[in-house]
Amino acid sequence: MNSQMSSAMSAQDPDTAPIEPLRDPYLLTPGPLTTDPSVKAAMLRDWGSWDSDFSEMTAGMRRSLLAMAGDGAGDYDCVPLQGSGTYCVEAMLASFVPRKGKALVLANGAYGLRAAEILRYLGRAAALIDKGDYLPPRGDEVAAALRADPAISHVVVIHCETSSGILNPIAEIAEAVHAAGKKLLIDSMSGFGALPLNVGTLPFTAMVSSANKCIEGVPGFGFLIAQKQELEAAAGQSHSLSLDVHAQWTYMNRTGLWRFTPPTHVVAGFIRALEMHAEEGGQPGRLARYTRNRDTLVVGMKRIGLETLLPDRWQSPIIVTFFNPADPAFRFGTFYDRMKDRGFVIYPGKLTVVDSFRIGCIGRIDHRIMERVVAATRDSLDEMGVVSASPPPEALAERARLTALDQHAAVN
Ligand SMILES: *Cc1c(COP(=O)(O)O)cnc(C)c1O
Repeated sequence: MNSQMSSAMSAQDPDTAPIEPLRDPYLLTPGPLTTDPSVKAAMLRDWGSWDSDFSEMTAGMRRSLLAMAGDGAGDYDCVPLQGSGTYCVEAMLASFVPRKGKALVLANGAYGLRAAEILRYLGRAAALIDKGDYLPPRGDEVAAALRADPAISHVVVIHCETSSGILNPIAEIAEAVHAAGKKLLIDSMSGFGALPLNVGTLPFTAMVSSANKCIEGVPGFGFLIAQKQELEAAAGQSHSLSLDVHAQWTYMNRTGLWRFTPPTHVVAGFIRALEMHAEEGGQPGRLARYTRNRDTLVVGMKRIGLETLLPDRWQSPIIVTFFNPADPAFRFGTFYDRMKDRGFVIYPGKLTVVDSFRIGCIGRIDHRIMERVVAATRDSLDEMGVVSASPPPEALAERARLTALDQHAAVN
């Protein structure tokens, strides 16, 4: 990665722009991810956490994120919080689900299950709809669950479940939650900034995301966007001092400061990443690039004989899960090393049932890099002596069975 990357990406004709020489490996992982050199350069200065310059940076960043969420009416506020994304999920659940409340968690992968686990730690009552690895929770199921259990006050949904790459249908889920008069909490960690999420069309109680996903900053903090009236109501609800969203919010609004030492350099890098996000055309521009990344990747990998876990209908433009080839010459560890030799760091699978690997489509990469990922995959498999990249027949049969089930559910 170098400065030629950013100039190539903003060039008039990206197809004819020169491909830059390879240096650090590309991170095809959904955060930390490959960042622009200018984001890294923005971190070279030291900032005082009490200085007014840094307070202005924080305030501007909060305004940009609220604008990205479409908060024209000023009903919402943005609360940044130190830590990785999970700290923010935990802060959201502890602050917004009342101690006497009950949450319905919609899970179809590791991050949904993690939200349920957090609620267990917090001692909050919770119900779980677990769809396994492949299938989205649907609006009608949520409506039925809410009818069956009036004690449920909040519904927790993962926007893009990064463990498989499935894009959950949050619009129909939000509709079901709204119709039942319940509150919606969204983990849009790997979606916000690329997938549309607008409070004007999809009102939610609160959502969380983090610096190192689709906005393409480096890891170190996350942020919540929440209704102001819910932020008010969150007073005294958190079990945790450092994860208390209401306390962070009121302190920040009163003083302009973070409650405890902020990741100053990370914030500076993130502000540069926000500028680049705007230059690219905001959320629609970013979505267009990621979509082209995914399409280039999926078409190329299928040409080699690899198969995706998900049917196209549910495949997000964020990360793609491929079944491991059934060929006995395939070993994930060797494949990983061969890909790294070629300049690409890939991601192991996170499924419970079948063996798989994942390739992220996010970060400072474009479709030309994705063509090279496909070529590197072909060369790596050749080098390992993998003759066929096809998955085991059981994996495809399982996918077909569940896809049929899902279509059945959709018509009913
Ligand atoms: C990345 C991510 C998180 C947070 O993970 P951390 O490792 O704590 O940053 C939570 N939910 C989803 C859907 C994610 O993609």
